[in-house]
Amino acid sequence: MQTSIANSVSATGVGLHSGKHIYLTFRQAPPNTGIIFRRIDCKPVREVPANMAFISDTRLCTTLERHGAKVATVEHLLSAIAGVGIDNLYIDIDGPEVPIMDGSASPFVFLLKSGGLYRQHVPKRLIRITEPVSVTDDNGATCELLPHDGRKIEFSINFEHPAFSDSVQRASIDLDKESYFIDVSRARTFGFITQLEMLKKQNLALGASLNNAIGLDDTTILNPDGLRYNNEFAMHKILDAIGDLHLLGSVIIGTFKGHCSGHRMNKLLLDQLVSQQSFEYVEVA
Ligand SMILES: [Zn+2]
Repeated sequence: MQTSIANSVSATGVGLHSGKHIYLTFRQAPPNTGIIFRRIDCKPVREVPANMAFISDTRLCTTLERHGAKVATVEHLLSAIAGVGIDNLYIDIDGPEVPIMDGSASPFVFLLKSGGLYRQHVPKRLIRITEPVSVTDDNGATCELLPHDGRKIEFSINFEHPAFSDSVQRASIDLDKESYFIDVSRARTFGFITQLEMLKKQNLALGASLNNAIGLDDTTILNPDGLRYNNEFAMHKILDAIGDLHLLGSVIIGTFKGHCSGHRMNKLLLDQLVSQQSFEYVEVA
């Protein structure tokens, strides 16, 4: 059955790019609403559905925009929503980006579960991949969706850096057998200090710190407590892909494989999937 939350839950956190405090409230939404961001700081309030039709930017993070109202960095929250299995939700937000929290999806999982799940008496709609779909860019990055009677995700990255041994550059998860909450949701975003200095000069990443990202210099990981998972970098790319793919509007039944891809390619993959009509809707209850 479709699911929303039973009780409203509010939270606050810092925006990764603005560095400002942003308030969020998750509220129950009726069946067949989907996930809708509501910019409550705009007059009138602007609704921005979490749908691929409203993706406006994929540099650094995934940004949605409708009628001039933006919501950036939606991917970690959408990943948590997909992981918890919520279909319908209003997200009231008083700024242009979702707070970064600890850089993973785990705080959002905690908040959504705190609201309690509310089962709605309408069948859940899933998307089943029927034909392989893939996209590749000029640098050799690829991502693809393949038919599979389950939910599997594989990802590989390729960084020439002492902290990235071969074993940490790969991650995979079978969501029918393993746990999104335990194995994926705690993986944090990561970045290089040299890039961070460049972004800050452009007035971006003003809220970035070792409290909300894994930071790397030329040789090592800067966070005193190290990594949460041995392959946290690659696992975070899986977390991102789950969030980006959820902009299709439903959980996807199939296999996703990514290699060095990111938000831009995830969007291109969704565009390709829709233009090829390589999927079908299935209802479950
Ligand atoms: Zn991310």
